[in-house]
Amino acid sequence: MSSPDFQIPMHDWNIVGHEHAINPLRRALVAQRVRHAYLFTGPEHIGKALLAQRFAQTLLCTGGEDVHGTPQNPCNACLSCRKVMHGNHPDVHYISRPQDKQFILIEQVRALQSDAARKTLEGRRNIFIIQGMHEMNVQAANCLLKTLEEPEPDVVLLLTVPDPGLLLPTILSRVQQVPMQLLTTKQIKDRWHGEPDEANLIAALAAGRIGWAVQAVEDEDMLAERQAQLETLAKLSTAGKVQRFDVAQRLSADSDKLHAILELWLLWWRDMVLAANNCLDLIVNVDMQGIIQNQAAKVGAAESQRMVRAILGTMEALDQNVNARVALEVLMLDLPTVR
Ligand SMILES: [Zn+2]
Repeated sequence: MSSPDFQIPMHDWNIVGHEHAINPLRRALVAQRVRHAYLFTGPEHIGKALLAQRFAQTLLCTGGEDVHGTPQNPCNACLSCRKVMHGNHPDVHYISRPQDKQFILIEQVRALQSDAARKTLEGRRNIFIIQGMHEMNVQAANCLLKTLEEPEPDVVLLLTVPDPGLLLPTILSRVQQVPMQLLTTKQIKDRWHGEPDEANLIAALAAGRIGWAVQAVEDEDMLAERQAQLETLAKLSTAGKVQRFDVAQRLSADSDKLHAILELWLLWWRDMVLAANNCLDLIVNVDMQGIIQNQAAKVGAAESQRMVRAILGTMEALDQNVNARVALEVLMLDLPTVR
């Protein structure tokens, strides 16, 4: 049954695609020129944390021909590899924003620095994976600079950020950037072993982010929730002001989900723009093509484009801590009315 089209481009890093990000890391390993700090960049769910973890695994792998040297690929079998994969290697430290805090704090960076000053416990390197560097406050970032400027010889910092523009230039100048690009829909679809219809839908919705696809497969509620959210959105176009404000209130009360919902809306309105321009083969919400086509014909490309901008503006406002309910009410008034 296996056609050549379904061969998965796998290597020992166990990551689909992203060769352009992995190959420079491999070359650094072969040349024994591993830098002290790397910054993995790319949109949410693209796999930055996974790549950082695989790199850490390779740096600590003891399964290579020379047990004292670093191989260019992890063996995935030695004790060290297994510990990194399970997240319990004592020389791999994870740092991210605590759930109840707004930022990664200076105390966390100080803890990192005291760990970095210690000898490694098992491996040949002391590795720190900082997820979401943009969530580090300025005070903490300035403190981290000290480590970036004068790192202990065995320390490697692996940082992730959606966009390098979110970081201070002083940080950027001291890291090696590793940009990650979106995968093709086919690369994602080829990973799928279930129903072809579902594979098409998930690959389209993932919009290049393999992490999103994996999450959708693992979490059965995710697709059902998406469906419910989009149905609400589709109805809003014909709803009056009272109903729209009800939805604004309901959504603003769930700040955890708000960002994901707005991303969903953004994709929907991008699809509307595409449908209004007769580019149906490019739309993401393939299962709702009929409704999108119908509404796009009534709303038109210019209005749809305006909604894309309005949603982006709302997301930006929310990032700057504008009152969520007010921001959503403004967005609701922006929604074109379909009759
Ligand atoms: Zn190994």
